[in-house]
Amino acid sequence: MKKSIMEQRIKETAQYYESIIDNMPGHVYWLDEHGFTLGCNQNVLTTFGFKSIAEFKGLSFEKIGEICKWSLETIQSFKKDSFEVIRTGRAKLNVEEPPIANQEGKLIYFLTSRVPIFDVNSKVISMVGISIDITERKKLEKKLRLAKAKAETANKAKTEFIRNMSHDLRTPLAGIIGLSNLQINEATSIREKQYGRWICNAGNQLLELLNSVIEVTANDHQAEYKPKERINLKKMAEELQALMYPIVVAKELDFQISLDSQLPIVSSERIKLKRILLNLLSNAVKFTKQGKISLKIDLISLSNTHAQIGVQITDTGIGIATDKLNKIFDRFYRVHPSYMAEYTGYGLGLYLVKKATESLGGKITVSSEEGKGSCFSLDFKFILSQQDSKPSPSYSKLVSAFQVITDSQKGSVLVAEDNSLVLYVVKKMLMSLGYQVITASTGTAALRALQTQSFNWGLLDLGLPDLDGVETIKRYRKWEQLNQKSCMPIFALTAHAGDKIKSQCKKIGFDQVFHKPFTEKDIQIIEKYLDNSCLHE
Ligand code: ADP
Repeated sequence: MKKSIMEQRIKETAQYYESIIDNMPGHVYWLDEHGFTLGCNQNVLTTFGFKSIAEFKGLSFEKIGEICKWSLETIQSFKKDSFEVIRTGRAKLNVEEPPIANQEGKLIYFLTSRVPIFDVNSKVISMVGISIDITERKKLEKKLRLAKAKAETANKAKTEFIRNMSHDLRTPLAGIIGLSNLQINEATSIREKQYGRWICNAGNQLLELLNSVIEVTANDHQAEYKPKERINLKKMAEELQALMYPIVVAKELDFQISLDSQLPIVSSERIKLKRILLNLLSNAVKFTKQGKISLKIDLISLSNTHAQIGVQITDTGIGIATDKLNKIFDRFYRVHPSYMAEYTGYGLGLYLVKKATESLGGKITVSSEEGKGSCFSLDFKFILSQQDSKPSPSYSKLVSAFQVITDSQKGSVLVAEDNSLVLYVVKKMLMSLGYQVITASTGTAALRALQTQSFNWGLLDLGLPDLDGVETIKRYRKWEQLNQKSCMPIFALTAHAGDKIKSQCKKIGFDQVFHKPFTEKDIQIIEKYLDNSCLHE
């Protein structure tokens, strides 16, 4: 081939490749083995303000940096990676560069891949860099990060708000429940007693709702260890039947219970299991206008150590559409929102039921047909209860046992609480059990009383005005030590739910912590605790 034709062909081929590179979307440039620029595509020229390839050719990184006003750090970063590729002969892909300014001074972020070019003897003779402009992506990332931080802050504020609100609701609610209990016990007419019961029931329902809301917002409850208890499933089913009875009768529904005659005594968290079943039964009743609801408990299999138990709660109610079935366990989801006013609720029940079932190692599934009814199935593998521990005496028996003890045996108690309603209820309750009660409504007054009078034990609200409960106990314990007094049992009372507070209170000197509403059951716990402390002294 003639030399001129050959030269023409080579020129054409070079032009061909140059136009491909020129039209590539990224910034493409190539250097010689000493790190000096050999060429680049149009994007590089435009972005950094070079008029021609000739102007760009033969420049060192330092020179480019000087022309484009790059920082020393940027120059070093580009140089380091490029020289590494030339030296090692290994490609470096997808490196995020520090931001660099274009000819208008606007900062651009590049994602760069650098590859070595070899001659026929495998010697590196050049390096090609391809940089993709990722400025928009970085902006979006920043926006997303900010939005995430904002959402997290808002979520924290919401949780804090719910906690505070539930605390503020709990204190007056404790008063209402306590007073209604007094009314149930003391009222002479049947009607007044009934009103007391209704107020008490409504109060307890509100309390239950508050507890659910707290359970959903608190996340520390998950790690909590709950001791296993002995569960007689047959007895539990009967208790549930008794609890559901009034509402089932009021709605003229049929309630069937079918229990496997071989049900063993198992070991698990009793209250949690009962709440799961109660929740499902309450839903069954709520969403059923006529027909029946049923509770079926089956023993599926039995080994030496475990029992597999199946529970089914079925109703002939409104049912759930197939496309909604997988949403009903979501937080706050309701098939019929409250503006439709037919069914009340908060969409929390099933969310908590599922979490609680899983925390007991079980599984929950649902099948349903719109207009026909629903069936919630639970599957548990329970450990068999090892020893049939003695059943604890029932609550009412314990209460009557208290009343036998004469006043003089009970001693005196200091109760410090700033809410007059709660103070009144606690005082009345303690007095009816034979205690002499001294009250204080501020921390300072409580501290003075503790230092000047003698008590068998004390109960301090944590949220007292002036000196709060924490400060009061700290000062009192210090005073006790300085004056070599024996340690008086002091219990904390709080409207804050959650178990974290318990360990904190114990650390600063409280014997135990009780949540509002303070009930006779709590007094039993205190008395048991005091009896045990005496035994160990
Ligand atoms: P809610 O407090 O609204 O009842 P849940 O979490 O217990 O909250 O239930 C979520 C939703 O699932 C309910 O609002 C209801 O639409 C539907 N649902 C639950 N149980 C039943 C049932 N037995 N029959 C029909 N729909 C039900």
